[in-house]
Amino acid sequence: MAPEVAKFLNPPLCANSQRTVDDKLLPCENEAPFVCSGCQFVQYCSTECQQSDRKHHKVNCKSAFMTGTWVPAWLKDKRKPAFVDAPDTKIKTYGPQNDRQLSRHQHCFQAAHNGGTDRIVNQVLNLLFAASGDIGNIVKTVRRLPKEYQGNCTMVCNDNDFQVNGRNVILLMTVLHFEPEVSTPIMIHLWMFNPEQVDIRDRNTLAFDPAQRETLVNFRRTGVLLPFGCSTKEFTVPNPWPLGWMVNPLHGWDEPDYMKHAQVAKADHYGALFFFLRSTLQEFCVLIRNMNIKFRVYNRDASTLPQVEKLQFDRIEISSLCDESYWGPETAIRTFGPMLKSKHENPSATLLFLFLSSAVNEMEKLDFEGQMHAFPLSRKKILWELLSVTPGKLNSLEKHEPQSVAMAQCSVMLFNFDRLFQPMHRRVIRSALENGLRIKNKHTIVKPWPWSIFDSSTKDEFNMMRRHSRSGAERYMELQLA
Ligand SMILES: [Zn+2]
Ligand SMILES: [Zn+2]
Repeated sequence: MAPEVAKFLNPPLCANSQRTVDDKLLPCENEAPFVCSGCQFVQYCSTECQQSDRKHHKVNCKSAFMTGTWVPAWLKDKRKPAFVDAPDTKIKTYGPQNDRQLSRHQHCFQAAHNGGTDRIVNQVLNLLFAASGDIGNIVKTVRRLPKEYQGNCTMVCNDNDFQVNGRNVILLMTVLHFEPEVSTPIMIHLWMFNPEQVDIRDRNTLAFDPAQRETLVNFRRTGVLLPFGCSTKEFTVPNPWPLGWMVNPLHGWDEPDYMKHAQVAKADHYGALFFFLRSTLQEFCVLIRNMNIKFRVYNRDASTLPQVEKLQFDRIEISSLCDESYWGPETAIRTFGPMLKSKHENPSATLLFLFLSSAVNEMEKLDFEGQMHAFPLSRKKILWELLSVTPGKLNSLEKHEPQSVAMAQCSVMLFNFDRLFQPMHRRVIRSALENGLRIKNKHTIVKPWPWSIFDSSTKDEFNMMRRHSRSGAERYMELQLA
C-alpha cells in the first residue's frame, strides 16, 4: 500500500502533531507507546516530543473541563439553550433526517436461531431494510453471518431520504471497489464526519466525566473521527455528507465493545471508536468481498416497496415505521407481512419492529397523578442518587441548570414502560391475528427492552445510557407468520 494511503489506516499516534521542521508543519510519525499522565487521552513517542508539544497540548490537558470549572455554554452566556426551542424528540437536523437511526441500528440476523450455522451456510438469504437509514445495520448484520457462508444473499435497502441513500451507495461502492485497507479509512471519514452544535454538544456531555467531555469537544471541533493526538492536516476538503448535528458517532455502538479497542490513551473514547471501527469495517469489507452478497438500494416511500420488490424475505427490518407517529402497526403489518418467506421456506422468517415513541406518547397522555402512578416512587430515589441531587435542593435549581436539564432528560428513563406499552401491544396482537401473523413467543434477534433501567442498575450503566441518548422506552417486537 502506498505510504500516503497507509497513513489513513494507521494514523501516527504521537500527539506532537504541530511539530515544525524548517518552518514547515511536519507531524511526528513515530510509534507512541507513552500516555500523558495528566489526561490519559494523548500518546507520545518520547519525553522530547511530549515536551516540545507542551504548549499546544496544555490547552486540552488543562482545559476548563479537566479542571472541573466547566459550565455549559448556555449558562456561561446567560441565555436559553438552543435545544429548548428545537427539542430533539422532533426530527430536526441539518444533516440527513434518518441519522437518528444511528443510535438504534441493529443487526437483524443470528445464525444460531436459524437452525444453526451448518444449515444456513448454503442457504439463499433475502434481507430487507425498509427504512434503512445509515448502513450501520448492514455492517452489523453482515458480521453476524457465519464466516463460511457461501449462499446467495440479497440485501435490499430502502430509505426515502435521497442524501442518506447517496451516502450509503457511495459507502457500499467504496467497499466493492477498493481493497479493505483503502476502503476502511474512506468509510470511516465519509460516514462519521460530524460538525458542531454547541448547546447539543454541551447537553450531551452532562453524563460525561471530564476527559470524555474534552475528547468529545475536540472531536466536534474538527468533525473528524481520529485518535485525540492525531494530526488533521490532510483533512482539507469538507465532507458533503455530514452527520446531523444531533448525532454522536458513539451512539450507534456499544460502549464496552469499542472501549476494548482503546490503546494506551484509555480516556480517549473517540480514539477507541476509531480503532473499533477500523477493525469492524475492515472485517466487513473482507466479508463483503468474499461472500455472494447483492445489494439493491431504493429511494422511495416504504409503502410502495411491495409494488417493486418481488422477493420474499427471511428478515424484514422496518425501523420505527410501526410507531404511532409514523404508520402505526396495522399498516406496517399489512404492508410487510406478505413479503415474508412462507413458513415452509423459512419457519423463522421474521418481521422486526421498533417502537421508539409509543410508550412515551402514552405517558404524555396521562395527567399528573397518572404519571406519578406509572413512575414508581422507588425509582425516583434511584434518579436522585444517580444524579447526585438532593430532593430538597431540586426546587431551588434554576430551570436551565445542568442538573435540572439532566433531570428532565433522565426522569423519562424511570417510567414503567412495559405497562405504558400495553395498549400498543394489544393493537399489534389484534392486527397480527387479522393478517395471519403472530408475535414470536421468544425473541431471537434482539431483546424486547434492550435498554431498560432496573432498580439494580448502577450509576455507570445509567450514565452510559445517557451518553448514548437512550431512553429505555425503545421496544422491539418480532413477528412471524402464524
Ligand atoms: Zn495531557
Ligand atoms: Zn513523537
